[in-house]
Parts: sequence; C-alpha cells; structure tokens
Amino acid sequence: MDFRDSPDEAEFRSELRSWLAAELPPDWGEREPHVGRWDFEAARRWTRNLFDAGYAGLTWPTEYGGRGLSPTYQGIYLEETARIDAPDHIGVIGLGMAGPTIIAHGTPEQKETHLRGILSGETIFCQGFSEPGSGSDLASVRTRSEREGDEFVVNGQKVWSSYAHVADYCILLTRSEAGSQKHRGLTYLLVDMHSEGVEVRPLRQITGDPEFNEVFLTDVRVPVSNVVGEVGGGWGVAMTTLLHERGTLGFALTARLDALFRRLVSTAQKTGAASDPLVRDRIADLYVDLQGLRFTNYRSLTALMKTGVPGPEGSVAKLHWSEANQRLTSLARELLGADGQLDGEGAFWNGYWQYQQLRSRGNTIEAGTSEILRNIVAERVLGLPRSR
Ligand SMILES: Cc1cc2nc3c(=O)[nH]c(=O)nc-3n(C[C@H](O)[C@H](O)[C@H](O)COP(=O)(O)OP(=O)(O)OC[C@H]3O[C@@H](n4cnc5c(N)ncnc54)[C@H](O)[C@@H]3O)c2cc1C
Repeated sequence: MDFRDSPDEAEFRSELRSWLAAELPPDWGEREPHVGRWDFEAARRWTRNLFDAGYAGLTWPTEYGGRGLSPTYQGIYLEETARIDAPDHIGVIGLGMAGPTIIAHGTPEQKETHLRGILSGETIFCQGFSEPGSGSDLASVRTRSEREGDEFVVNGQKVWSSYAHVADYCILLTRSEAGSQKHRGLTYLLVDMHSEGVEVRPLRQITGDPEFNEVFLTDVRVPVSNVVGEVGGGWGVAMTTLLHERGTLGFALTARLDALFRRLVSTAQKTGAASDPLVRDRIADLYVDLQGLRFTNYRSLTALMKTGVPGPEGSVAKLHWSEANQRLTSLARELLGADGQLDGEGAFWNGYWQYQQLRSRGNTIEAGTSEILRNIVAERVLGLPRSR
C-alpha cells in the first residue's frame, strides 16, 4: 500500500486543516486536555457544524447527506481531528454502527427517516444488545418481541446501553420466535426511545459518569416497518453492527491513541521522568506497539476498500488498541507518583490521567471482551479449530 496521499487526498487534508483552524480557537491543540465527557449540547452544535461543512458521513451515500468518498478520506479525517484533539461527532453509535447497518440492510424508508438525522446529530442512537445473562453470549438474548397485527410488542430488559439516557432510537435485538434457540428466531428492531413502556435507569461507571444505562421494556409497541432485515433474521443484521463496531471504530480509536501518546511524552517531560532510562524504555515499547497498530489499521482499511465491509480483522485492532490504551494510561498515572492519587482541581491536568486510566478499564469489555476477540481472531482470521 502507498501511504502517501494522492493529489485529491492531499487537497482534502489541507482543506480540512484550514477548516478546523478556522472553527476552533487558535490555541486549541496546545491547551490542557479536557477531563471527562464533552457537554452534550456543545457536542451537538459541533456535530451540526461538521455536517454543514460536509465532514460527517464522508463514506455514506450522497442522497442521505454523505459524500460517497472512499474510507481513506475517513482515515484522513480521523487523523487530522485527532492531531489537534478536535471534538468528536456526537453520534458514536448512530455513525459507527446503526447507520452502516441501516445502509446495508435497511428499507428505503428507514434510510430516508434515519440517516440524515444521524449525520447532523439530530437523531441519537443507542444499542440494546446486552442483557443480564447475555453479553459475550449474545445469542442467548431473551427480550421478546411478539407480533400483533402491524406491530411488535416488546418486553424485556437490556443493560449497559451507552447513551440510552439521551437517545431517540435504539437498535434492539429481540427474540421474536418463542422457544427458538441461539441465533435463530431473532429480530432486529429500530425502537423509538420516546415510546410508552421504555424506562431508562442510569448506571454509574467507575469514572463517576452515568454514561450507560439499564433499559426496561414493558409492552413497547414497535411498527413492523421498523424491522431491519427479515423477521427472524436478526442475527445476520447484528453481525453487521458488530463488525462495524470493532472494525470502523478501530481506526478512530488508534488515531486518538496517537494523541494520547503525545500527552504521555509531555507528561514524562513535565514530571522529570523522561530522564529515567526505565521509563524511556517503556515509552519506546509503547511507541513500537502503536506503530504496529497503525499499520494494521492501514491493512484493514485496504481490505475495507476492496470488499466494502469490515472483516473479522477489525477484532485485531480493537483487541490491541484497548490493551495498549490500558498500558499507556497506567504508565502515565504511574509517572505522577503519589500525585496520581489526587483528583479534580489541583491534580496534574485536573485529574486527566486518573480519568483516562479508569475509563480504559471498560475498553477491554465493551464491543467484545479481549477473551472473545482472541477467540474470533483464532477461529475466523487464523482458521484454528473452534474453542467450544
Ligand atoms: C463501557 C461499556 C459500554 C457498553 N456499552 C454497551 C452498549 O451501548 N450496548 C450494549 O448492548 N452493550 C454495551 N456494553 C456491554 C458489553 O458489550 C458487554 O459487557 C460485553 O459484551 C461482555 O458481556 P458481559 O458483561 O455479559 O460479560 P460475560 O459475557 O458474562 O463475560 C464475563 C467474562 O467471561 C469471559 N468469557 C465469556 N465467554 C467466554 C468464552 N466463550 N471464552 C472465553 N472467555 C469468555 C469474558 O471475556 C469476561 O471476561 C458496554 C460495556 C461497557 C463496559
């Protein structure tokens, strides 16, 4: 693969740099890092800006507000925004998972209804896959959907649903065939979170943020027109979502990890730890890891451009990224010594590393635990025998 930009890509990169420089304060890239999550309404305004300027949905079809460009442009966008730590698009789940799934399996009406709103930040999606007793073993989903005329009536409970407290819609995996086993008899629904019978209860994460939720569904009525794919064929649709969750996001996360690495180096310099040969060794090791990850991502990007769909190789990136992120944030916090125990105002960068380290714990669980991803890599990438 040629890593240099083509003339068109170079032009796109330079336009994007100028746009970011004009939209963000001049010292944005050099400021002290932000701690915790972004303010929701500010993130929504930023998303609208991105959409109006044509930077949301670079690879999405033009008729739904995208630009129809190749994934390389999305890669450039992610590198450039990470380089100066620009705010993210607000629709993490809509943009990365619900949207691509609707593009692949949705009806023309579903595309018309949802895609533009996801890109502009008007419609926020959450993902209702996990249940108590159904996480890694997603095929054991128990939330029921029973057909009554033109509607499905949904009953059950989901858990760990990120953004459900602010979401307008949920991609919900349900069991529509009573008594069906495993991945048979599942149906994938788009559920309006404002429907009667949807109750969202926030859960507090180790960081202190109430960023994910329990979702209780009691006699929630969902029009049959909100089924994505075939009734009973929800497993295949859910696999599209998961491949995008692990694949497409891999590039974004790696780009952000580069920015975090630069902060680690800066922290080593500020704390005086940069002259310690053991610290230098560990930082150099991390640098090598990150370069490996970067080039693995370029390979996934090449494969994606050839096939149009992310493959199981995305699991390598997610696995490696989440573990490298934990090593990086733990090392950074260690460099602070006893000050690493402080939090909030007065702490180094207002407790930025403490927050990052705590948040990184969830990275090896969400979007597939490391154990599950190792199984996928072993079975589906390397072709080794099934583990069970
Ligand atoms: C921050 C965060 C955000 C999340 N957001 C969402 C969301 O928005 N929507 C959503 O639906 N879910 C979400 N999740 C849930 C996440 O997808 C699940 O937690 C994950 O799939 C693991 O499932 P579990 O918690 O039931 O653990 P379990 O499946 O019970 O696993 C427990 C342990 O056993 C191991 N294990 C299980 N099966 C095997 C096996 N076959 N081989 C080897 N080891 C195994 C696991 O790796 C793990 O270490 C989120 C989780 C986190 C932490």
